[in-house]
Amino acid sequence: MPLSATLIRGAEVLAVGGPQGRSPVRADVLVQHGKITAIGDNLALPDAYDLIEGRGKLLMPGLVNAHTHSSETFFKGRYERMPLELWLLYAYTYLSGSAIGDRLLYLRTQLLAMQSLKNGVTTLCDDFFDPMAHSIDRLGIVFKAYADAGIRANVSSAVLNTPVLDATPFGHEVFPEHLCAQLKFGAPTTAAEYTAYCREAFRRFHGQAEGRMRFAITPSAPQRCTTDMLQACHALAVQHGVPLHTHLLETQVQAVAGQMFYGKTLLAHMHDIGVLDQHATFAHAIWITDADIARMGDAACSVVHNPLSNLKLGSGLAPVRKLLDAGVAIGLGTDGLSSNDSARVFDLMRFAALMHNVNGTDPAQWLGAFEVLKMATLGGARTAMLDDATGSIEVGKAADLVLLDLANDNLRPRNDLVKQLAYCENGNAIELVMVGGHIVFCDGQLTTVREHEVWAELDELLPAYLEEHGRWEVANQVFEPYFAEVIRRCKDIDVGVRRYA
Ligand SMILES: [Zn+2]
Repeated sequence: MPLSATLIRGAEVLAVGGPQGRSPVRADVLVQHGKITAIGDNLALPDAYDLIEGRGKLLMPGLVNAHTHSSETFFKGRYERMPLELWLLYAYTYLSGSAIGDRLLYLRTQLLAMQSLKNGVTTLCDDFFDPMAHSIDRLGIVFKAYADAGIRANVSSAVLNTPVLDATPFGHEVFPEHLCAQLKFGAPTTAAEYTAYCREAFRRFHGQAEGRMRFAITPSAPQRCTTDMLQACHALAVQHGVPLHTHLLETQVQAVAGQMFYGKTLLAHMHDIGVLDQHATFAHAIWITDADIARMGDAACSVVHNPLSNLKLGSGLAPVRKLLDAGVAIGLGTDGLSSNDSARVFDLMRFAALMHNVNGTDPAQWLGAFEVLKMATLGGARTAMLDDATGSIEVGKAADLVLLDLANDNLRPRNDLVKQLAYCENGNAIELVMVGGHIVFCDGQLTTVREHEVWAELDELLPAYLEEHGRWEVANQVFEPYFAEVIRRCKDIDVGVRRYA
């Protein structure tokens, strides 16, 4: 289907990128063939175009959720008061039954896309977790759900091939023999198997849906993967020009794991095995040292800051100001919805802008509204290696746009729109969302998905699924005292940094 032209007339345009990106400027924006082709006054217009009246509206780039896991989408509001190592037992159930059925897999993915689009998120990076399966057909279901919903998506399929307790400090000391055996899950995926799977994923899905679908490489975390797996992942990322996206040093336990298993930080380990460059994108990066930060700057890595997930799991405060000072690009991520409880990137902006103030009284160390807005757009696009394609309103970029009503309570009385986006807006002012030139949300309705039909089906299928998940949560309680002991043993070990206020 050829894409028509659209003129968005007379909106206040907050471009984020480019020389005038920091403040709104009244302008017309012309969209043709899915891209922004002109911005300004008195534009030369094609013979035919759709008109969107922008007067009284604010036009901003679509938001980027730079780190999430669609696998958690059904678990919002389910957990609290658990640090990562305990929460993993319940959200990811080491002991578990059969994988989620194909239809629920599709609906779960679509639900995340729906809740994202309604909240102005036009790009998301889904580190899809499908327990050890790496089935190309199931990955195809995820891609289809995103393509159908009309969102832009970097999808990956998390791989880990080190047994849980081998990646857990004190694991083999603390866990009784019979439980150690239960935490082994058969032959681990080899680097060759994962490489073959990824090659097939690139062949089938990468670049589909007018270029909106991309495949990315996600070793789950350095301590959860063998060196040859990390190196194979890096080779794939370089070859295909996509991110090597991984969790890094989310908790103090993981910082201890670096010391214990490699005699160095996990970041230094990645450096020493040759996988640290501009492809590397790190979710969290909390328990990193100053030397790690300098290395990340030198290597032009990027980081996805997950403020709400970090708060919920009590992981500590990421050194975001230091990372920015070192030249590291930062995006914002919800992480999965069971540790963040919503798909709203506006919430992330607000928390990111506020939470670092507990570090001290020097406001120069705090984050500002434009900084977090940039993280939520262009910075996130950079972490996804999509900054040529999206993240700002500039000629040549995809028309991934959000139109907000300036008459909404969140945005008036008007003081400073950038600060109001960071501190006041929660998505309620959104009137229209466009991805690649297609209107995907307008007048309170998604245009791509019949929301009530999705929910009717979910209402039918979900109770049994959640009931079964609840049974597996109970089964996994058996591990909790031992992981709690691991946390206790690690919390007093000096790892060179403190990340609690
Ligand atoms: Zn994550």
